[in-house]
Amino acid sequence: MAEKFSFEPTDLKQLKDNYDVIIIGSGGAGLTSAIQAYELGLSPVILEKMDKLGGNTTRASSGMNAAETFVQLNHKIVDSFADFYNETFVGGGKMNNPELLKFFTEHGALAIDWLDQHDIKLDDLTITGGMKTMRTHRPSSLAPIGGYLVTELLKYIAKYQIPLFDNIKVTDLLTDNDQIVGVKAFSNREIKIQAKAVVLATGGFGAGKDLLAQYRSDLLNLRTTNQPGATGDGLKLAQKVGAKLVDMDQVQVHPTVQQDTPHAFLIGEAVRGEGAILVNNSGQRFVNELDTRKNVTQAIDDLGGTGAYLIFDQSIRNRVKAIEFYDHIGLVETGQTLSALAETIKVDINSLQSTVNNWNQAVKIKNDQDFGRKTGMERDISEAPFFAIHIAPAVHYTMGGVAINHQTQVLDEANQPIAGLFAAGEVAGGLHGNNRIGGNSIAETVVFGRQAGQQVYKYLKG
Ligand code: ADP
Repeated sequence: MAEKFSFEPTDLKQLKDNYDVIIIGSGGAGLTSAIQAYELGLSPVILEKMDKLGGNTTRASSGMNAAETFVQLNHKIVDSFADFYNETFVGGGKMNNPELLKFFTEHGALAIDWLDQHDIKLDDLTITGGMKTMRTHRPSSLAPIGGYLVTELLKYIAKYQIPLFDNIKVTDLLTDNDQIVGVKAFSNREIKIQAKAVVLATGGFGAGKDLLAQYRSDLLNLRTTNQPGATGDGLKLAQKVGAKLVDMDQVQVHPTVQQDTPHAFLIGEAVRGEGAILVNNSGQRFVNELDTRKNVTQAIDDLGGTGAYLIFDQSIRNRVKAIEFYDHIGLVETGQTLSALAETIKVDINSLQSTVNNWNQAVKIKNDQDFGRKTGMERDISEAPFFAIHIAPAVHYTMGGVAINHQTQVLDEANQPIAGLFAAGEVAGGLHGNNRIGGNSIAETVVFGRQAGQQVYKYLKG
């Protein structure tokens, strides 16, 4: 039986006034950098403003991209850093910061090894939009990656007794002679904490209406998949001490978000990666479902505001555990036959039937003449029952953020590092260009979270 683990944040009474490094945020980037810093002998502290730990990382569902991994070889997939780089670069509109992208694509395999050494096993593979190779690593339980990763990282935080305080919001970075010397934070009172290094791991601003209004007012009416704490605090903190922000208008709208309930639930790309198709209100396909998020979103928008339906069968459902959750909370329509499903979602029965027949034929001959889809064609849609999820685009991820170099040092307007200030994860800008590829955000938190922990050590002890 799986052991039960529940994490208890540290009691505020135990907060000290001095640490080697203050890590702001308890998502993938914050937890990874804390563990790495601790393993190098530093004493880190993690400060989280919400009472729920894990940030948007807990919501990630598809997996973690990496190339040339031992997991890929176990699956007889021979990949290359260069292909990972090029596919991400093309997917990002060739706007990705080459320095960051090079480091990122060349360190994913080490990050997979590091996770493996920490009993975090991502030994199954899937694929996401814009990629040509199976390089999205996920647990073989097929559980959504985010919750799994955060839980497993928290086990190490607990094991190492790294202090992690929740309900404490960092409001200012403290500097002396242009060097970071600590933070000001607010819990039930204002608190000053000293440290010669700070890691911003505060995530993005997908739920930050003020920043969206400033940079992308056209998106203000859209829902968001983000947790309410994703308000871009780290960007504002960094800017106040002279950091440069990059690509701030590059906001990713995720194409497949169920939003007919009060919440907006992202339906992970793995559903399409494992074989689902998208149909319009007339039951017809209208796009290569595994094109980049940007292009699939555009195609859904072009339908004129109706949204679209993801269509899949039991064999696809078996490959994505998150679907059990989607169904549990009432997001999935079911039909014992395709006709019954068509009736439930009110699309033309004959049209849906012929769409699925055509698609199954395309899967069989591995040639999608209609939309040129080349991936996610391992299985067709033929095993009852059949399922549909109504989706529409929603604000999902902010590609812009604090300027960093590949050492995660935060840069000022003159591209010079701000001494003692580091950033990792969604708070940092530039890696993804104008479109983030699915599976690259979790990878970014682990690759650059580790790097931040290492670079802080070098800064303090080197
Ligand atoms: P990443 O994927 O880059 O690790 P996440 O969104 O998963 O980012 O996590 C970022 C975390 O940082 C969230 O839990 C968020 O609530 C927290 N956070 C954001 N701003 C602050 C702040 N000012 N003080 C403390 N924690 C913050």
